[in-house]
Order: sequence, then C-alpha cells, then structure tokens
Amino acid sequence: MICARDIHKSFGATSVLRGISLELQRGEVVAIIGPSGSGKSTFLRCLNHLETIDSGRITVEGEVLVENDASGQARYVPDAQIRSIGRKMGMVFQSFNLFPHLTVLENIIEAPMLVKKMARAAIVPQAEQLLQKVGLLDKRDAYPNRLSGGQKQRVAIARALAMGPDILLFDEPTSALDPELTGEVLRTMRALAQEHMTMLVVTHEMGFARDVANRVVFMDKGEIVEQAPAQAFFANPQQQRTRAFLHNTL
Ligand code: ATP
Ligand code: MG
Repeated sequence: MICARDIHKSFGATSVLRGISLELQRGEVVAIIGPSGSGKSTFLRCLNHLETIDSGRITVEGEVLVENDASGQARYVPDAQIRSIGRKMGMVFQSFNLFPHLTVLENIIEAPMLVKKMARAAIVPQAEQLLQKVGLLDKRDAYPNRLSGGQKQRVAIARALAMGPDILLFDEPTSALDPELTGEVLRTMRALAQEHMTMLVVTHEMGFARDVANRVVFMDKGEIVEQAPAQAFFANPQQQRTRAFLHNTL
C-alpha cells in the first residue's frame, strides 16, 4: 500500500529523518510511537506530501510519488500525479482542523464536492451514513464550536473517510482530548481497524497500540529503532532504547 524507503529529511542543519524505511500492507494497522521530536509527525507529513523529502523513495499502491534522481536528490512526479496519489490518503490531525464556519455535514461534504466534483445529492447520503457510523448523526447541522473535542475528532474522521481514502494517517488523534473523551475516538478507530481499513497511527496510547495495531514501530532521533508485531513488541522489546522509552511511558 505505502512503501517508504530510506527517507531523509532535514530542516536547515537539523537532520529530522535519517533513513526511515517502512512498508504498510493493505488492511494493516501500524502504530508509530516514540519520544517528542523523534520525527513521527514529519514522517507522516512526508508520506502525505505536506512536507517534501530530501532523498528516498515513496510509493503508494505501486505508484511512485517521489524517488531519487541520478544525483541522489528526491525528485517528485508531476503535480497532477501527486494530487491523485494524495487522494488515496486521508489524514486526521491532533487539532481536528474542522472548518469553523461550516456545519458538521458541510465539513464532510466540502472536499468531495470541491475536489471530487461529486454532486451534493450524491454525497449527502454518504455523509449521513458516515455520521451514523461515528455516532454523530444528531449533530449533522451543528457547528464545530458546539461539539466536544471527542465529537470534533469523530467528525474529522468522518470527513477523512468521505473522500474514500485507501489509507488513513493519524497524528496523535487523541492527544488534545481530555482523558474521558479519548475512549470514544479510540473506539471509532478500533471499528475502522476491524473493517480492515489500512491505518498508520502516531500515538501515545500504548493500550491502543498493543490491542489494535498489528505492528508497532518505535522511532527515536529520526530513526526506526525497532519494530515488531504489537504483542511481541510490548512483551519482549529487543533494544535498550525501546525498553527505556516503554519504562518511562507505561
Ligand atoms: P511530538 O511527539 O512532540 O509530536 P514528533 O516525533 O512528531 O514529536 P516532529 O514534529 O516530527 O516530531 O519534529 C521532529 C523535529 O523536527 C523536531 O526537532 C522539530 O523541532 C523539527 N521540525 C519539525 N517541523 C519543522 C519545521 N517546519 N521547521 C523546522 N523544524 C521542524
Ligand atoms: Mg508530532
């Protein structure tokens, strides 16, 4: 589904991604964990072309997004292809990023209408179905400022799903939520996992990583230090850095 090979990325003199390689199979749920500043968000943003990489190769469902040219510099495919590859991925952010001036329903139908040129009459029933799925059909006509954080994040998930992505990327979707609201968002994500949605999730929720992810990836200082099937990862971490991190977070 997604294949990233030897991704390098610097901001000025700061090397943030130092040779990240990660492959995601269809239907897989992979959790990325790691300390603050280890490059988790930057990596997701590179996959989604919200950031550009310096070198490496990214393919999405076999289509090349970027690869090195003869001089070893990353070269992106033409913009039209970037956009079509980008539409295969949905992203859910820590800070929800809903449009405040649009109702819940309008938030969900905006991109399918603008980007996919779908007719309103065609997308509204789908949007309502998605709202049903995340348990918020009764909030259809509410504005985001009337929703709790957990509700906002579930709308954001419905909005991402409305574009019909093959892969969902989540960047700490519950970190901005009060503890009592994280459960409803994690339940929604768990339901998506059970439907075999392909998901890459940066998270601090170790319980979610252990119970829902197929595989856990531990990043530190721009590198993947260790990755393993979720149960094995937590039961028997191999690297000292992983053990130290888990010791501090669990
Ligand atoms: P957190 O758990 O706190 O979200 P993270 O693992 O997601 O951390 P990143 O946000 O990817 O880490 O940041 C990795 C490093 O890159 C940090 O040192 C950060 O300061 C730096 N960085 C990220 N974005 C930029 C930017 N646009 N310009 C300059 N430096 C950046
Ligand atoms: Mg981050």
